[in-house]
Amino acid sequence: MAFGVGVDQHGQRCPRCPHRVLWSQNDLGGRFVTTESGAAGSSRTMSAVSKRYLIRTHGCQMNEHDSERIAGLFEADGMVPAESLDDADVVVLNTCCIRENADNKLYGTLGHLKSVKAARPELEIVVGGCLAQKDRDLIQQKAGHVDVVFGTHNVHRAVDLLEQSRQSGPVTEILDAAVLDDRELFPSALPARRDVGYLAWVTIQIGCDNSCAFCIVPSVRGDEISKPFGSILNEVRGLAAEGVTEVTLLGQNVNSYGRDLTLRLRSESSGLDPAEVAGSSWATDGRARSLFADLLRDVGAIEGIRRIRYTSPHPKDFRDDTVAAMAETAAVCEHLHLPLQSGSDSILSAMHRGYTAERYLEKVAAARAGIDDLAVTTDIIIGFPGETEADFESTLAVAAEVGYDSAYTFVYSPRPGTEAAELTDRFVEHSVTVERMNRLRAVIERSSVRRNEARIGRVEEVMVEGASKKNPDVLTGRTRQNKLCHFASAEPIRRGSYAAVEVTGAGLSHLTGELREVTHVAQHKRRIPVAAG
Ligand code: SAM
Ligand code: SF4
Repeated sequence: MAFGVGVDQHGQRCPRCPHRVLWSQNDLGGRFVTTESGAAGSSRTMSAVSKRYLIRTHGCQMNEHDSERIAGLFEADGMVPAESLDDADVVVLNTCCIRENADNKLYGTLGHLKSVKAARPELEIVVGGCLAQKDRDLIQQKAGHVDVVFGTHNVHRAVDLLEQSRQSGPVTEILDAAVLDDRELFPSALPARRDVGYLAWVTIQIGCDNSCAFCIVPSVRGDEISKPFGSILNEVRGLAAEGVTEVTLLGQNVNSYGRDLTLRLRSESSGLDPAEVAGSSWATDGRARSLFADLLRDVGAIEGIRRIRYTSPHPKDFRDDTVAAMAETAAVCEHLHLPLQSGSDSILSAMHRGYTAERYLEKVAAARAGIDDLAVTTDIIIGFPGETEADFESTLAVAAEVGYDSAYTFVYSPRPGTEAAELTDRFVEHSVTVERMNRLRAVIERSSVRRNEARIGRVEEVMVEGASKKNPDVLTGRTRQNKLCHFASAEPIRRGSYAAVEVTGAGLSHLTGELREVTHVAQHKRRIPVAAG
């Protein structure tokens, strides 16, 4: 296995982000936005009116959500989605750099686009995202046919930069920090072009203040900044009014959400409204603290929101107040994605993760004790520099003890500028990581099958996402525990509806079942261009 291959045991579908209905494979072999049109009308140049755009995204939910914002900006400028590369005037590659394979893919795709552009010189090529932030001028040095390069902090400039390149040639613009709104709190809201109308990602925090030795995120996404509490609630209320019933709250360390806001409120007589910035519970207690548990409760109280998911919590900051809020808030799904990274204390320490294996296990036990029927998933890195057989066996032991529902397993990928990338003399042999990965997968798969089989006979609530890719007669959706569930229905059921399904079978990465009844028919409109900060 090559460095940086992430193995998702659910195959191509991500168990953490079920927003896939309108993404499809196309001639560049990646996922492109292929949503139906309905442009919001042009407020800018007439030249943009008829342009068709295609956005290719590689990466995590942050990148996917950035793509929704780029699409929202383009459509507000009068552009419309293209069906494929063949009819696209503008192609955007929005690429993550967390693992090395993204770099290779980007430069491979740019090589292909060079020949497309040679045949169609009017094609405009844009590169954005964390990889652009990391590589900066290198992209245009390596690929002179790229028209625009922008980073993670200036997504809002996508349309202006395209215009600038039309006037005066290729442009690279990378900012070193986020541009904050008038209140200096959070980047201004941008329109987002969400693919589906019934579920949505909601960013609650950008950046990261941790310094995990393997991770490039802090250097490409910047300092951790929390979105004001009231702005999140307003965004979710707006989504609920449009018929969204499931939201996934996004941040790199959601359990520290709001700490910066409360520190700011305590240190300044800023004239900010405490309840708007930090929520009404905080306004009465006033301690410097995380607001994540408050947020779960308040989002859960919004009418119309039936399901709340979130990613990612950090084990060092995951505390009892979050468990309590999850247990007490009916809308919060019974699923915890708690990244382990390693089960070896010495590797965890070298990674600067801030917890031990024992502490991690205690947190999982507390979550399971507090929340009925909790599914637990994780991220694990194999082959961090210096990982010995004994370290790896500790990881196997923790994985076996937790008994995960599923896991993302990654081969360590050295990222430029990170502490671990300097440890070249401690890199683990490729053949060793392959062998360890196979052994880890076996342990994870055993518990996945066991935990899926344990659901047989239960009636699960499934949010319907559409027809199964393999069999159009079968519908598919996600349970509250984020398990894929396939079932047959004599009648069509609208995407986004909820159904009670009796589980009759279980595999490694899915359940099968029989429809009992439709419990809620989706009410969403077809698409939602709303402001999302
Ligand atoms: N903030 C999250 C946390 O602290 O757990 C992680 C977010 S990161 C976008 C997602 C996952 O990518 C990490 O949990 C880690 O397992 C994996 N990852 C990050 N850097 C990596 C690297 N250099 N090599 C391999 N996997 C990596
Ligand atoms: Fe990366 Fe660690 Fe921050 Fe997660 S918490 S984004 S792994 S630095």
